[in-house]
Amino acid sequence: MDDKRFIIPIFISHLGCPHRCVYCNQDLIARPVSALPTPEEAAAEIERYLGLNSHKRTSAQTVQVAFYGGSFTALPLESQEKLLRSVKPFLDEGKVHSLRLSTRPDYISPEILEILKAHKVETVELGVQSMADEVLRISRRGYGRERVQQAVRDLQGENFEVGVQLMIGLPGDSPERFAATVEEVIRLSPHFVRLYPTLVIKGTVLERWFRQGRYHPLALEEAVALAKEALRRFQQAHIPVIRVGLQPTPSLLEAIVAGPYHSAFRQLVESSILYEQAIDLLAEFPHQGRPSLTFLVSPRDISTFYGQGGENIIKLRKACGLQEIRVKHEPQQKRGTIALCA
Ligand code: SF4
Repeated sequence: MDDKRFIIPIFISHLGCPHRCVYCNQDLIARPVSALPTPEEAAAEIERYLGLNSHKRTSAQTVQVAFYGGSFTALPLESQEKLLRSVKPFLDEGKVHSLRLSTRPDYISPEILEILKAHKVETVELGVQSMADEVLRISRRGYGRERVQQAVRDLQGENFEVGVQLMIGLPGDSPERFAATVEEVIRLSPHFVRLYPTLVIKGTVLERWFRQGRYHPLALEEAVALAKEALRRFQQAHIPVIRVGLQPTPSLLEAIVAGPYHSAFRQLVESSILYEQAIDLLAEFPHQGRPSLTFLVSPRDISTFYGQGGENIIKLRKACGLQEIRVKHEPQQKRGTIALCA
C-alpha cells in the first residue's frame, strides 16, 4: 500500500441506512438528506484542504480524496455520482490522483464497480466485521461470509485496493471464531485491515442486551489480547493494520455505555507485543545474577516499550528478578522489535 498518500477526508452521513446492526445507534450517526455534502461543498472542502496543507505535502505524495463515515455505495446512485463528479476537476488538473471510500460488502455489484472505476476510485474499504455467519446473523449485519468473499473477489478482480474492517467482541463471537475470521481474512489478501473493539453505545439493541445480561462486552484486557493476536497474524502475513481502536471523538465518548474503550488502545496492544518479545529474549539470555539489563529499542517505540505508567518495565523486573532494566534508543533497531544488549 502506498503510505505516501495525502488523504483529504470528506465525511458523508449514513443516509437512509436500511439496516439495523445491533451495535449501531442510527439516531446518533444518521443525519438527514440535507447533511450529505453538496458537490459544491465537497469541492470547497478539497480546495480548502489542498490550500491549508500544501506545506505538509511532498512532491512524492499522491493525493487521495476519501469519502468516509458511511456506506458510500448504499447511497442513491444519483448522490454517489454527484459526489464522485465533484472530484473530477481536481483529477483533471492533477491536484488529486484517486479516490477512496468505505462501504458494506453487500453493496458491491458489477454496476457499482463500473461507476467507481469510471471516477478513479482506487481504494474500497469494506465493513466486514466478522467472517462467522453466526456472528453476522446475531449482529444483524444482513449478509453472510460468502457475500464478503464475493465482494472482495469482485473488487480485486477489477484491481481495486481493498481494505477490511473487523470488529472484536461482537455478540456470538468467541476467541476461536475471531481467530478463524482473522485467518479467513488473511486468505482473502486484502491490502490493509482496521480493527475496532465492540463498544456498547447508548440507544442500541446491544445496550438493551447488555442491561438484560444477554451481552457481556469484553474486558479491556481480553480485547487487547485478541487484537494482539490478530495484529501479530496480519503482520506475519504482511498485511498492514492501519488502525487498531476507535478514534476518540467527543460524541463517541458521550455515547459509550460499556465496553473495552481506551484512548490509546493500539499502544496497549503494541506494548503487550513488545513485553512478550522481551520475555522471549530473556528466556534465551543468561541473565541470572545480573543486577541490570539493557534493551535496545527503536526511538519511535520507546514509550510503547515502557507501557502505560511504565507497566512493562515493572512487570519485567518482577518476572526476571532484576533490580534495573535500562532502555537504550537505538536508531538501527527495526520498529516493533527489540534486542538485548549483551
Ligand atoms: S453500522 Fe449497520 S445500521 Fe449502522 S449505519 Fe452501518 S450498516 Fe447501517
